[in-house]
Amino acid sequence: MSPITYISTRGEAPELGFEDALLAGLARDGGLYLPKTWPTLSKSELEAVPGQSFAEVAADTVARFAGPKGLARKEILKLAEAAYARFGHPATTPLVEIDRNLWVLELFHGPTLAFKDVAMQLLARLMDEVLTRRGERATIVGATSGDTGGAAIEAFRGSSRVDCIILFPDGRVSDVQRRMMTTARESNVHAVAVDGTFDDCQALVKAMFNDLAFRDRVCLAGVNSINWARIVAQISYYLVAATALGAPYRPVSFAVPTGNFGDIFAGFVARTMGLPVETLAIATNDNDILRRAHADGAYEVKGVSATNSPSMDIQISSNFERYLYEASDRDATWVRGRMGELQQSGQFRLGEKVQARMQRDFAAASASQAEVAATVRRVREQSGYLLDPHTACGVVAAEKTLPAGRTPRVVLATAHPAKFPDAVEAIVGERPPLPPRLHALLTDKERISVLPNDLAAVKGFVADRATAVRG
Ligand SMILES: *Cc1c(COP(=O)(O)O)cnc(C)c1O
Repeated sequence: MSPITYISTRGEAPELGFEDALLAGLARDGGLYLPKTWPTLSKSELEAVPGQSFAEVAADTVARFAGPKGLARKEILKLAEAAYARFGHPATTPLVEIDRNLWVLELFHGPTLAFKDVAMQLLARLMDEVLTRRGERATIVGATSGDTGGAAIEAFRGSSRVDCIILFPDGRVSDVQRRMMTTARESNVHAVAVDGTFDDCQALVKAMFNDLAFRDRVCLAGVNSINWARIVAQISYYLVAATALGAPYRPVSFAVPTGNFGDIFAGFVARTMGLPVETLAIATNDNDILRRAHADGAYEVKGVSATNSPSMDIQISSNFERYLYEASDRDATWVRGRMGELQQSGQFRLGEKVQARMQRDFAAASASQAEVAATVRRVREQSGYLLDPHTACGVVAAEKTLPAGRTPRVVLATAHPAKFPDAVEAIVGERPPLPPRLHALLTDKERISVLPNDLAAVKGFVADRATAVRG
């Protein structure tokens, strides 16, 4: 086994090892990191998955991507066991059958009730370990429209090596989402309410990363969905679910509620490594740039419309760049050109070859808000199972694109219904209760910093809190 190195989708950043890619997040040329070669999964490796704990599968997966010179499997396993001990279900990501051969893969048993915990809990521990070994620290700055911020603060609270600062749009996240960020008592995590929108928060974070002097001075690191290690952690549950349902002896199909294309890209990687996946269905809500690109070959930005599945309300899908790189046979020049066009004019064409490839690699369907509501109600009547609206988009897409038959259909359940109580109540007329282990959240004291939508003010705040400052 040769060491795995990581290359940027834009071809102009230095090649890195796994640990540096883990700490870097975005490449310095603006691209995203991918392994130079894909590790593969043999039939006997897949046969060994059922019966392993989730932590064991995750440790094996990360070890494959870390390579023989990276963190040892034994070390990774310790971190994975600690990460998944924080989940409220002994199976970590259980499967539930809601219709004949239609399964829901529950990814929401982590501390913030959404699938982002699966990757973030492990990522935080991997980062801590690498930084400890190097005697370094890092400052994480992120923007959130709701789910990512809570998952990051929950994962990094108490870290001895990382200061974590999360910007969120003041008054525009739900009470539960805000409390998941503001009730952590540890002094290394900070929730910052910015007087602006999510796009303003994201622009502030981008500006800090683009200021290379500032970035280096406070050792900025990113944990948004473009961080490669998050995608690696997410591959684990595709392996667990598919092998539980018959892989490697029979294929399985997945429908994936999609925003930034991170979660579904993990499924694409699992298939690239050798997992028999028949169909991978991209599920979007009304913000359907991916479905349109799949159908028409035009990747074209439109305004965001607010839906009852807010974590999928995106304008562009940042991880789609990774797929474009693969689908163009790793043509960094082509990717750079298209990303330039996107920035200039808000659109580009996939071209015949890449579009045809996308149609072979994925199915795609979008779910209107009315379809989401009807599906939540129908599934509840038929099986007693309560879907959250994001997961319901996945069920709608599964029913539109995956034939009911012998191939198991798995919908990734990305959030617990209690995480979006207003949306669920509007659909079924009842408020889903928070799991008891989260009750304290509703009364714990909050700690919030409020800042104007002003780069100098936010930079000052970050510099003051960052204990990682270099010389
Ligand atoms: C983040 C999120 C998504 C979208 O996931 P991507 O990896 O960005 O495609 C879907 N559902 C929920 C509940 C989320 O929090």
